[in-house]
Amino acid sequence: GALIRYDSVGGGSGRIGRIPAGIGGRRLRVVVTGGAGFVGSHLVDKLIGRGNDVIVIDNFFTGRKENLVHLFGNPRFELIRHDVVEPILLEVDQIYHLACPASPVHYKYNPVKTIKTNVMGTLNMLGLAKRIGARFLLTSTSEVYGDPLEHPQKETYWGNVNPIGERSCYDEGKRTAETLTMDYHRGAGVEVRIARIFNTYGPRMCLDDGRVVSNFVAQAIRKQPLTVYGDGKQTRSFQYVSDLVNGLAALMDGEHVGPFNLGNPGEFTMLELAQVVKETIDSSATIEYRANTADDPHMRKPDISKAKELLNWEPEVPLREGLPLMVSDFRNRILNEDEGKGM
Ligand code: NAD
Ligand code: UDP
Ligand code: UDP
Repeated sequence: GALIRYDSVGGGSGRIGRIPAGIGGRRLRVVVTGGAGFVGSHLVDKLIGRGNDVIVIDNFFTGRKENLVHLFGNPRFELIRHDVVEPILLEVDQIYHLACPASPVHYKYNPVKTIKTNVMGTLNMLGLAKRIGARFLLTSTSEVYGDPLEHPQKETYWGNVNPIGERSCYDEGKRTAETLTMDYHRGAGVEVRIARIFNTYGPRMCLDDGRVVSNFVAQAIRKQPLTVYGDGKQTRSFQYVSDLVNGLAALMDGEHVGPFNLGNPGEFTMLELAQVVKETIDSSATIEYRANTADDPHMRKPDISKAKELLNWEPEVPLREGLPLMVSDFRNRILNEDEGKGM
């Protein structure tokens, strides 16, 4: 594999940071790990849409072929069933590293596997980036801030994370992945980017992944009560997936390492979110209180001034506009599920 330096991005502009259509007259080759998942599949759609060659690596732990089936047969698209905990040899220009379960229910299911995915998986993708001179982007998380003592959270905040709790496999796993990323950058000169993603929602989320937006939307459609954990006064800030995908591409193609918060600063309590879901789907939906899970962060809201200033990025879709955009996808899948059961 020839060592392809990213600085040679052409397309006439000659400037690093432009959307790269290709390098030296050929198409840009991009790997998306976790590309069969919720965020990954939307990112793949964007990359294919702008003319890149895309290779998805996924072990289908939480991802589904259905999320990519519309691309099967496209000669610029390739899907590899592979676990990132194992090494892999490829020749590409950019690596978007998303592979990791994101929902608390999924990442707690096998916490040791979650740590291995975050540490060994990230190490392998960084080793790959080093060998072939590719640019590497890590999708880290707002969870690196833990149960934050600073509000809203800026990138300079170091966080308040429990190292031995039920969420630690994910939080500490991502913190280690950030450390590895910076050490490969400083030590081996790998071009890296770090995104800290805040709660994101949209079509193709797993129906029963336990995250609050997918839970509430599926519950409202199924005419079940919305399950509010704890007193429902904890807050989150919800970003529509197209905004995130635009942010990830702007970060990858830009000149700044980060970390950058990518999220929508609109902050809602879980009770307020339940209200928006009721207004959007079924005004007669009821609420059922449940005990909260351990170590649940009390509040979360990104300060996105850094991404606004340096990436010229900010979210465009408010919750009240984004929620309806996922409802028809959820309705269809719930309907198919019921038909599958012979109901
Ligand atoms: P997801 O669960 O839908 O997607 C994760 C994908 O990674 C799935 O397709 C899964 O099969 C794959 N995967 C998991 N372990 C793997 C392994 N060992 N090898 C290969 N593939 C593996 O989750 P998502 O919401 O799309 O999240 C994508 C990324 O964004 C994750 O890294 C997550 O930590 C990060 N993130 C997401 C959010 C959010 O709100 N969605 C917030 C913060 C960070
Ligand atoms: N690696 C990989 N694909 C490559 C290059 C490396 O999967 O093209 C893996 C490699 O197996 C190792 C990890 O990435 O486990 C880190 O690689 P690096 O070369 O940085 O470290 P080393 O192999 O020297 O420990
Ligand atoms: N939550 C809830 N009802 C649900 C699922 C989650 O009230 O059915 C709450 C959960 O306690 C947390 C918030 O919603 O305070 C966000 O949870 P989620 O799992 O979506 O993401 P997190 O930000 O915790 O990773």
